[in-house]
Amino acid sequence: MARTAYVNGRYVGIKEPAVRIEDRGYQFADGVYEVIKVVGGELRDLDRHMARLERSLGELRIEPPVSRRALGAVIRETLRRNGLKNAIVYVQVSRGTAPRNHLFPRAPRANLVVTVRRAPFPSAAELQDGCAVITVADQRWGRCDIKSISLLANVLAKQQAAEAGCREAWQIDEKGMVREGSASNAWIVDMQGRLITHPLGPEILGGITRARVIEMAKEEGVEVIERPFTLDEALEAREAFLTSTSSLVMPVVEIDGRSVANGKPGSVTMALQNRYRAAQGMIAKSAVT
Ligand code: PMP
Repeated sequence: MARTAYVNGRYVGIKEPAVRIEDRGYQFADGVYEVIKVVGGELRDLDRHMARLERSLGELRIEPPVSRRALGAVIRETLRRNGLKNAIVYVQVSRGTAPRNHLFPRAPRANLVVTVRRAPFPSAAELQDGCAVITVADQRWGRCDIKSISLLANVLAKQQAAEAGCREAWQIDEKGMVREGSASNAWIVDMQGRLITHPLGPEILGGITRARVIEMAKEEGVEVIERPFTLDEALEAREAFLTSTSSLVMPVVEIDGRSVANGKPGSVTMALQNRYRAAQGMIAKSAVT
């Protein structure tokens, strides 16, 4: 089936030229986006994604193009037209279309694009085996808490990771602390079994999966410490993992070619992975021990 996208009130073929040359997203990366998971036809954590989208827009002073309710309806209709029940939804909002000028247009009308695609979730084997990551110096801008479409540094880092046969690139700050991945949050489990992840702030994106994992850990009585950790700590940790809407809870078994612990996914990570998948309707709740 040919893929259908939503662009400013119209449903169009994905290959149609529907976005204008003077779209500020195209010209300046002046816009934000969201990525939402759909499982069995249900949009997961929709309210949280909507809230993050509204926050990102607010921080950049972009007026939301439609109400939250209308956006929900558009997303559902786009899914229906594409016949998808397990999918990833991309919502992109740019400041609008205007003659090229760095200054905000006087009366901008934000452009809204919604696309969906078949779920690219990791396979059972990938989730079991975990993944390798590299580390890179963080070259991104100072407001990583905004889900901006300006992703050049993330693109370069992810490409470097892929060329090294790795899934992710962990962004290291000037003090040697691990911030997050290029498209996921970064975690370790210390020798006391505590979860450690970078605190919220302008250095990282507040992941929806991150928030879910913190809630699940607390329910299980697992302590969570939100503080930066060093690369050395990660290499000496009992376990490491990454989280995102599409990568779920993914064990990290190798960093820069060095094994984390015994090079196998750890038990805390796997328990969280199972709980998360069950909570998101991806496996039966009875599969969680
Ligand atoms: N950090 C960055 C830089 C990301 O791009 C993503 C993916 N959107 C995440 C973290 C994880 O966020 P979420 O759990 O909401 O997908």
